[in-house]
Amino acid sequence: MAANEHEEHAGRWRVEPGTELRLADIDTASKAGAPGDKEATTLAVQDLVGQLSDWQNRLWAEGSQSILLVLQAMDAGGKDGTIRQVFTGVNPQGVRVASFKAPTADELAHDFLWRVHQHAPAHGEMGVFNRSHYEDVLIVRVNELVPEPVWRARYQQIRDFEQILTASGTAVVKVFLHISPEEQAERLQARLDDPTKRWKFAAADLDVRKHWDAYQAAYEEAIRETSTADAPWYVIPADRKWYRNWAVLQVLLDVLHRLDPQFPPEEPGLEDLTVV
Ligand code: ATP
Ligand code: MG
Repeated sequence: MAANEHEEHAGRWRVEPGTELRLADIDTASKAGAPGDKEATTLAVQDLVGQLSDWQNRLWAEGSQSILLVLQAMDAGGKDGTIRQVFTGVNPQGVRVASFKAPTADELAHDFLWRVHQHAPAHGEMGVFNRSHYEDVLIVRVNELVPEPVWRARYQQIRDFEQILTASGTAVVKVFLHISPEEQAERLQARLDDPTKRWKFAAADLDVRKHWDAYQAAYEEAIRETSTADAPWYVIPADRKWYRNWAVLQVLLDVLHRLDPQFPPEEPGLEDLTVV
């Protein structure tokens, strides 16, 4: 594995398989490792965004590997903002974002991975899941939408599914944007107070918020059960949006360095050609 400058940062948030994860012990407002305050880090983010764009170009040109970023968070955890700000410099042609809402009747009439698998990125693409198959061991567990043996069996099914993606050349990177309940309260209130953001507010979010501890426990177990060497979870402190953006970029760039996509070999004799 080639060393790269992003590795040390990514390792800070990676959940190593088999380790005991306690979300309550992770500071949601951490600035660990950041190059400076908000201003300095935001400048660094601009540079990292440019690097992501360069890697995307290589990944696309090579056309034999892909990357899948799975984004999970509590409501107002910043999934949308992360996608907007991290992928802002990247050629939209090479990025595929899929958002997973409550399943339709047709989706519910299939296995839980049916609707997910078809959105997996093709070779050369960067895929992003805004929520994902993990909802089927999170909200489904907390709201008791299926019996416990059914959701519990899904940990193994998810590990197997992600192994299929890995084996076909997709690096699976899973990020939990970790915010505090206080930060969530502020963000939900901001949605209510701002008429241009009110459309994002769902009264049901307040019910979900009441089950904060149950969700944290469900996340903890899901992350522990499914963080593997090939498809690890990263718990990113996300109360500060600028730190969150910087951290997610570090994780993506570390993975891309390790994938190390190469431009395809050029046709022989091109150096002697002149276009007339
Ligand atoms: P925001 O964070 O901006 O509110 P969002 O991802 O919450 O965005 P919404 O449309 O508000 O988007 O919510 C989608 C809802 O769909 C979530 O409450 C989520 O838990 C739910 N959902 C997603 N997948 C499933 C699933 N498999 N079963 C049940 N509910 C699901
Ligand atoms: Mg929502």
